[in-house]
Amino acid sequence: MTSFEGFVCTDCGQTVTDEGATRCPDCGGTLDASYDYDAVDLTREELADRDGDWKYGQLLPFTPNGIGEGTTPLIEAPRLADELGVGRVLIKNEAHNPTGTVTDRGQALVAEAAVRAEADTLALPTTGNGGQSAAAYAARAGLLSRAFVPSRTNFVNKAMINVHGGDMRVVEGRYGDAREAYETEREEMPAADREDWFPAGAFDSPYRHEGAKPLYYETVEQLDWEAPDAVVVPVGHGAVAAGLWKAAREFADLGLADDTPRVYAAQPEDCAPVVEAIDSGGDPEPWEYPDTVVGSLEIADPEGGLPAAEAVRASGGDGVAVDDQDALDSAATVAQHEGLEISIACGVATAGAWDLHDEGAFDDDDTVVIVNTGTGNKDADIVRSRLMSQGL
Ligand SMILES: [Zn+2]
Repeated sequence: MTSFEGFVCTDCGQTVTDEGATRCPDCGGTLDASYDYDAVDLTREELADRDGDWKYGQLLPFTPNGIGEGTTPLIEAPRLADELGVGRVLIKNEAHNPTGTVTDRGQALVAEAAVRAEADTLALPTTGNGGQSAAAYAARAGLLSRAFVPSRTNFVNKAMINVHGGDMRVVEGRYGDAREAYETEREEMPAADREDWFPAGAFDSPYRHEGAKPLYYETVEQLDWEAPDAVVVPVGHGAVAAGLWKAAREFADLGLADDTPRVYAAQPEDCAPVVEAIDSGGDPEPWEYPDTVVGSLEIADPEGGLPAAEAVRASGGDGVAVDDQDALDSAATVAQHEGLEISIACGVATAGAWDLHDEGAFDDDDTVVIVNTGTGNKDADIVRSRLMSQGL
């Protein structure tokens, strides 16, 4: 069924066929799934006739036993389209995933890979959503989970990690501190125990960014097999930006979409290493003093920063960095104008779309897709505080 061939190291080019591989055995680099595209014989009609969350399984390493991830709605946002002066704005609403975020798509694959590798624990450093998702998918697969979260992680994420029976270590500080605690604990474990930990962080295995691809396949099918002109995506680790650009190239190469979209990466202006790299044309450099209220995007040194920046450059898109308060206001505006509850990360993308409009990035008849990476109610207290500070 799948045309999966193996993994390729994005750093040294080494081919890896071991299904349980998570990083390049030679250089430790990031692995990316490769396929025999000549063997893929998919038509629009055949795909349209298929149901289910993993109907695009030929373009994935394997099909996991899911809990209803994917097949999320693409919602028209007409007032936003008027305000941005474009033909259509649509919000790909990843809030409909089982734990309320896009992360579920990748964690479904991670959990399946961990079972196949006979690991017993999904382990990761996380700003929160990834930990909640890993705890859910570990529970489903009969595995344990261990999440390292920074102290600032929102209450819902922490509570739901516990509710799913996950093990959690709260680390004082920011995401970088949680990552360091994860690495230290992993290094200090006896080697035999280390095998039991399956890394569930973004780009710590090839599965998180690969799992993001169906988000784009679905979008094209929902647009009657037309590629959108532009996609605006919030960037933290870079998994969604990298995954959707890979999917866009696949669908165009396979003749399933007419074109590829311009990909725009949006980040908070006080933690924008990927946007800075896009602007400078170089590789992303770690952000020295990350400081944003958008915790899920406060990734100073993103593992997928380079593939995300390369996706944007190759697509003809751009990066956009926005003020935190503008992001919160945008989340409230979408809730008030469109009735949709979006994450503050999507507030960053939406504020970015307004800035891009001001810069003349969009044409009058463009179809613009904004990715809502997660449910709005995890961030309700932050947006409400912003409204109250304005006397509303
Ligand atoms: Zn390598």
